[in-house]
Formats: sequence, structure tokens, C-alpha cells
Amino acid sequence: MTSTEHADVDPRVAQIHEALTGVIDPEIHRPITELGMVDEVTVDAEGVARVEVLVTIEGCPMRDRIERDTAEATATVPGLTRVEVSTSAMTEEQRRALTERLRQGRRQIPFNQPGNLTRIYAVSSGKGGVGKSTVTANLAAAMAADGLRVGVIDADIHGFSMPGMFGITEQPTKVSDLLMPPQAHGVAVMSIGMFVPEGQAVVWRGPKMHRAIEQFASDVFWGDLDVLLLDLPPGTGDVAISVAQLLPGAKMLVVTTPQHSAASVAERVGSLATSTEQEVAGVVENMAGLALPDGSVMEVFGTGGGDRVAATLAGAVKHPVQVLGRIPLEPALREGADQGVPLVVSDPDSPAATALREVARSLTRAPRGLGGMKLPLSVTRS
Ligand code: ADP
Repeated sequence: MTSTEHADVDPRVAQIHEALTGVIDPEIHRPITELGMVDEVTVDAEGVARVEVLVTIEGCPMRDRIERDTAEATATVPGLTRVEVSTSAMTEEQRRALTERLRQGRRQIPFNQPGNLTRIYAVSSGKGGVGKSTVTANLAAAMAADGLRVGVIDADIHGFSMPGMFGITEQPTKVSDLLMPPQAHGVAVMSIGMFVPEGQAVVWRGPKMHRAIEQFASDVFWGDLDVLLLDLPPGTGDVAISVAQLLPGAKMLVVTTPQHSAASVAERVGSLATSTEQEVAGVVENMAGLALPDGSVMEVFGTGGGDRVAATLAGAVKHPVQVLGRIPLEPALREGADQGVPLVVSDPDSPAATALREVARSLTRAPRGLGGMKLPLSVTRS
């Protein structure tokens, strides 16, 4: 119905439709009016407004909230004596129409479409335990706190950690064949860990992991993201190559420690970036000096690793590579990760959070480039 048609009926019906544009579906994060969820709006002679809302599935866990939000929005329209909201589940056909609308008629990876402006960063490291996942989660939360629309794909399939770091326990909901990513701290997150029973490991070979990442990129409703971060597994294995193939616009962000041996990381990541023609966005040196109670700083892992990695990488990829930040060792960073609240949210002014926020801002301020326009490529490993 157009608003002119509403005007023919009762001006309050049009006003209700207008008010309902402010009701956001809690899972899809779009106005219910845009999603075709407002089935019928009437106002009778006594001024009783009746609004029928379609929810995606029978037993939708968000039903109560949608009903409440709809009732509240409707009640803002003047001249109504009562508001009645009822919900029913979409038919299979209506659900398909919704999925089509969300996909905008496409089944490809939205980030590779011409005109897509999402910045994509694949966070990698030469080895495990350097804080790559902690850095990914905090960068994402810092960007979201700055008002950006942020998504995270946990591409560390065997060692998934994003649900824990964001405190997400729920599973993605499905609308037809499209998955709605759970959100926490303003970040939409997708991880294989959301599908694995507690305590169970994922034992998959390369092709299956490739398919999972492809599905995370194409069968998840991400909406219009400003930034997509991928937490890669450590090293330069199959998944790193899959990500380069599936999301050729992804730039690599390398996390390392100040430890001397970490410099060897650079050669490996550098040779991957060279063969996949990926740009390196920069280096983050994590676990830098630990501030002691007497005000001195203890360089637990030495110094200079970040600079060495950046210099070696720059030589390999033939473009300048900067150290974007040095994140101090800070017990609260680990505690936040364990409790599902990134430090940039729980203690945004702490030294580590401040350093992470600076890195986040340098990434979102960097020129976007035309990465998303690159054609997918195939990489042969020797
Ligand atoms: P990776 O993803 O590289 O394997 P994680 O992000 O899981 O590493 O971090 C490894 C461990 O180190 C975690 O317990 C994490 O909380 C902790 N950690 C990471 N960075 C810091 C830091 N700057 N200060 C203190 N602890 C940290």
C-alpha cells in the first residue's frame, strides 16, 4: 500500500505505517516495514488500531519484543483509543520473498559485488597465542563503538574463539536459507563455534573449511557493513588461501609479538600475500611492555618484533608496511576475553584499549582502495 492509498482510508493508518518504520526487527536489524512484515493496519470508527505483524517463523523467540515495539510505535500516533497488535508466522512463500529481498536477488558474495564499500581485513599471525583473536575482537568492538557497522567472521575454524570473546551463546537464526548472525557489543558475529556442541572439536579438512567460509560470506545476512574482520587461523594454511580466493579485496593485518623469533612470521605471511596479491594493511605488535606497579615497564617479550616484521613484509609485498600500534600486556585484556566483554567496551580508557582503538581508527581512516573489485583468483601451492 502506498501512503496515498492510506490517506484515502484513514490518515491515521498512514501515520501508523510511518511510525512503524522505526520498529527494527531484532534479528535482521532492519525496519519491519522494509521487510514486508507489516501485514495489515486498520483503524475502526471507535479509534481502535489493529496491526497485524508477520514474524519469520512459528514460535519466533523475538515475537514478544516485536509485538511490544510495534504497540509502542503505534501508540505514538495521536487520536487512537486503543492499540491491538497480533502476530502470525509468514507462509513459506512470504519467507522466500523476504530472503530474496535481503539477498537483493543475488546469491553471490555481497562483498565482491561492484560498488560494495565494505573494508575487509583478514587478521593473521605466524603462530598461535600471540593475541590475534583478542586483537580482532577488540578492533571490531572499538569500530562498532565508533558507530560503524561491523561484522566478524571467525575463520579460525579449528580454534574458534569469537563466540567466547563476544559472550555469544545463541545460535544464528535461519530465515529461509539465510542465516542471521548474532550480535554482541554492536558487532555481528559468525562462527562455526555457534553450531558445535560444548566441548566438541571441529575436525575438518581444507575443502570443508573453504565451503564453511564461503557460506559465512554468502549465506549470512550481513547487511551493509562498513567493516568486515576475519579472524584467520595462525599460519598460512588452507584457510588463509581460501579467504584470499573468496574475498580478494581482503587486506591482511598481521599480529605479532615483540619477540625476535616472530620476525620469521613476516616471511611466511609476506610470501602468502605476494602469491595471493593481497595488500598488507599493517602490523599490530601485541604483548608489548607490561606496566609494573612502580611505574616501570617490563619488556616481557623483548622489543622490536613489530618493526622487524613490518620492514621484512614491506620488502616482500613491495609497498610500505607500518606498525599500526603496540598493545601492552594487560591482564584486563585477557580477563575481558575470558568474560566475553572486549576491553575496549569494559575499560575503554585503559592503555591497551586506547592503543587498540587507535589501531581501529587507523584502519577505518585508511583509503578504501578498489580491493572489492578484484576478480577471485586461484592459487597454486608449491
Ligand atoms: P591467538 O588468537 O593468537 O591464538 P589469543 O587472542 O587467543 O591468541 O590470545 C592468547 C592469550 O593471550 C589469551 O589468553 C588472551 O587473553 C591473552 N592475551 C592476548 N593479548 C594480550 C595482552 N596484550 N595482554 C594480556 N593478555 C593477552
